[in-house]
Amino acid sequence: MGYVNGLKCRECGREYPVDPIYVCEFCFGPLEVVYDYKKIKKVLTRKSIKAREENLWRYKELLPIDGEPQVGLESGFTPLIKADNLARELGVKELYIKDDTVAHPTLSFKDRVVAVALTKAKEFGFDTVACASTGNLAHSVSAHGAKAGFKRFVFIPATLEASKIVASLVYEPNLVAVDGNYDEVNRLCSEIANKYKWAFVNINIRPFYAEGSKTQGFEIIEQLGWKAPDNVVVPCASGSLLTKVWKSFKEFKTIGIIKELNTKVFAAQATGCSPIAAAIKTGTDVIRPVKPNTVAKSLAIGNPADGFYAIQVVKETGGYAEDVSDEEIIEGIKMLARTEGIFAETAGGVTLACTKKLIESGKINNDETTVMCITGNGLKTQEALSGHTASPHFIKPNLASFEEVLKKIGGK
Ligand SMILES: *Cc1c(COP(=O)(O)O)cnc(C)c1O
Ligand SMILES: [Zn+2]
Repeated sequence: MGYVNGLKCRECGREYPVDPIYVCEFCFGPLEVVYDYKKIKKVLTRKSIKAREENLWRYKELLPIDGEPQVGLESGFTPLIKADNLARELGVKELYIKDDTVAHPTLSFKDRVVAVALTKAKEFGFDTVACASTGNLAHSVSAHGAKAGFKRFVFIPATLEASKIVASLVYEPNLVAVDGNYDEVNRLCSEIANKYKWAFVNINIRPFYAEGSKTQGFEIIEQLGWKAPDNVVVPCASGSLLTKVWKSFKEFKTIGIIKELNTKVFAAQATGCSPIAAAIKTGTDVIRPVKPNTVAKSLAIGNPADGFYAIQVVKETGGYAEDVSDEEIIEGIKMLARTEGIFAETAGGVTLACTKKLIESGKINNDETTVMCITGNGLKTQEALSGHTASPHFIKPNLASFEEVLKKIGGK
């Protein structure tokens, strides 16, 4: 009853059955899910989508499951916000925010990938799920996994923001804080995944997990009135989200939901961890791994698994990349809050600050429609702002004390 043909190597094209596997045995290329688009085209239309509930499963034929959705039944379908105040400040005509700061249940876009991964883990018959995380994935696997009744092993770099650690621990997973950076955590997890029969959402079931990111792209097109934007700016850690947003746009064209597709895809990174942006800016296909040093911990992957493919998408679509300093990231967070009333985490600051640079350099035309993917909530990374916001006005509990303050700020 599914719409999946199987898995296929992105490098040599060898085909594999639907199994919890992720690399080609012959060339070590990554495996990707392939679908029967002819069959999907018959059932998935603007009309059939519109008639469904407002969650990410409204596009289920384009997601790699065989049966019915089992996890994340309330996830996805976050707002697309027309950011007129911000557009005015940046001097562009039309700007939108895809607002995953309010994703259900854990306030980041990772709820999309985990909903799909854990549904697939159930179909495969796993009783334990696991992940290597830069923070948000830990949070989402802990939460979705609790609701779905999985045993959970969650691996993070020990230096993660305290608020993200608490946000995961509250769901009582087995949280393992590794003395090392994400790339070292990930390497360790690959070894563990070889030994234990667990569903590592971003390792052995990564081909299925990654497909969940497409729902952000499907929603952008639907919420723009069945139209692809001229530009989309996507923050990159492993580069997976960027490649999947583009895949989603192409799939909607393939099955006839949109007729035209001329979107330019832009990559956004923090300068302190910008292997993808650096390669694009210097015009090479070769990713040079880096040791991350940035306040944007959720994007701190120094050796990005999908970096090569992200570069190809940016090149193929005529986009570009930018990177921004920690100061610019914090200014970006504050600008988004000040203009649009949205509190994003550091990755959101990266996306906004990069978009601003791309507009200023003319890489993004100011008479076009641009969508920024704002992928996580600021309440999760509050420490990044400490010392960067104003202090409250401290007063005595009487009117005179208040009016003294009022006079000082010229409020009256
Ligand atoms: C994980 C993450 C991303 C990007 O992830 P990819 O690995 O590039 O798919 C972007 N924003 C936030 C907040 C994230 O947690
Ligand atoms: Zn291969």
